[in-house]
Amino acid sequence: MSLFKISGGTVYDPTNNIDGEIRDIWIEDDKIVAPPGDPHLRPDKTLDATGLVIMPGGIDMHCHIAGPKVNMARKMRPEEKRKAEKVHRTATTHSGTMGSVPSTFATGYKYAGLGYTTAFDAAIPALSARHAHEELADTPCLDKGFYVLMGNNHYIMRSIQRGEHERARAFIAWLLSAAKGYAAKLVNPGGVEVWKSQQGGNVTGLDDVVASYDVTPRQIIETVARSVDELKLPHAVHVHANNLGMPGNWTTTLDTMRALEGHRGHMTHIQFHSYGGGDGDENTFNSKTLPLAEYVNAHKNLTVDVGQVLFGKTTSMTGDGPLGYFLSKVYNSKWFSGDTEMEAGCGIAPIEYRNKSLIHTLQWAIGLEWYLLIDDPWRVVMSTDHPNGGSFLAYPQIIRLLMDRTYRRDILKTVNESVITRSVLADLDREYTLNEICIITRAAPARILGLKHKGHLGPGADADITIYTPDANPETMFELPRFVIKAGRVIVEQGDIREDVYGQTLHVQPDYDHEIETDIAAWFDEFYSIRFRNYAVTEDYMLTPKCIACG
Ligand SMILES: [Zn+2]
Repeated sequence: MSLFKISGGTVYDPTNNIDGEIRDIWIEDDKIVAPPGDPHLRPDKTLDATGLVIMPGGIDMHCHIAGPKVNMARKMRPEEKRKAEKVHRTATTHSGTMGSVPSTFATGYKYAGLGYTTAFDAAIPALSARHAHEELADTPCLDKGFYVLMGNNHYIMRSIQRGEHERARAFIAWLLSAAKGYAAKLVNPGGVEVWKSQQGGNVTGLDDVVASYDVTPRQIIETVARSVDELKLPHAVHVHANNLGMPGNWTTTLDTMRALEGHRGHMTHIQFHSYGGGDGDENTFNSKTLPLAEYVNAHKNLTVDVGQVLFGKTTSMTGDGPLGYFLSKVYNSKWFSGDTEMEAGCGIAPIEYRNKSLIHTLQWAIGLEWYLLIDDPWRVVMSTDHPNGGSFLAYPQIIRLLMDRTYRRDILKTVNESVITRSVLADLDREYTLNEICIITRAAPARILGLKHKGHLGPGADADITIYTPDANPETMFELPRFVIKAGRVIVEQGDIREDVYGQTLHVQPDYDHEIETDIAAWFDEFYSIRFRNYAVTEDYMLTPKCIACG
């Protein structure tokens, strides 16, 4: 047992209602503990944090950092890798490559350097779970996990077609357990299946019929959302709605939120789903954040992450196959499309957001509107959908845009002027406080993910802590933490990685009736290219598994 005391820092811990109070934090091994009752007890180690700001470690609940799609994107962008910053090997760390899709080791070091200690990859086909776990095992400094794609899974669609809700629910539980995944993810439910079975195919709304199984996106959303609640999974169904990026898609987004019928739902990268206009005419494009945010504000079953767009070049990667094709057409860029048998699809294309473009400027503004129009910061989470809207390395810049309205207005003067008439951003005076930033970057994602031991600094919490040097410019403050502590160990000092620690992989193991496995095995025999017995990932395949309980 080792006792570590961080003394005299200004603590932000919204979960425990601590808003900038000077407190000592006590750590025993890898957990935070209550200050010892005996005032004479001496810690084994002390860190003087006088004058510094203390927050729980950051949590990125939606990013793309592992698995076959991410790895393909790395291979697709040699031109970017060649020019990018090099991550050199040191006595304690591996080398790595950057660009918009950093290598595994670089991803872990850069997240930690930014004060993040937990991250979830948002889109893994269960069939590729092994690949994802292998990459996560090579991603240092973070606890991590992934969401399992199931919005276009054939077995689920067949169960819906036959009216077998219980079978669909048992399969979802089995699939999460077999993949050692953390949450259920829907990506363009039904639409990817149409894309896979029909040239240039997609769905356009919730009631289009997916011909191969005679089901609709609405039925898929209802079934998975209801099952996730019935299984009492720690995280809600994680929804990438239909029609991402399309002008006029806001009505589909509203329909999707309604289709949840009161079940918990996390609407991801909501910025990409908040567009007015349509008919292929760019001049009609506008923001519909106001009505959508009003709906979210009024419905407590909903949470969102933003998917903020930042100006510059990046790589779009998505489980939404038809979207990848659309983007490659828009940018006339190289393009990768990959189908995963029975389960999912994906698309990758290099893209660039330009501040003089009407569309891109509005996307940027719509993201900021979401942060500023959701009343309760516990229901909106910071994300760039890394690397889709931009790199996670842009988080400090987003924090400044939220905390400093003068800066926000200065930037507004430099972008396409249409944003003034087509969005309400210029009218929004709200400025985030440090406490609210702490909520949207760690406390809220922990709560939304159902991680009771994360996102706060109370007794029993993981000793994942970020210590910042305060600065009048929040971007300066957040881009270079003074110390980052992971599981009780100081792993980063002023941007330098001190220890190459490896975190846990978080997963769920929901209960289900194991009788269903006979039917799934028969299904595998008939349709899969892999044997049923070779499919499931076992815990011994993972570096440090940690099962999070349901219920
Ligand atoms: Zn995403």
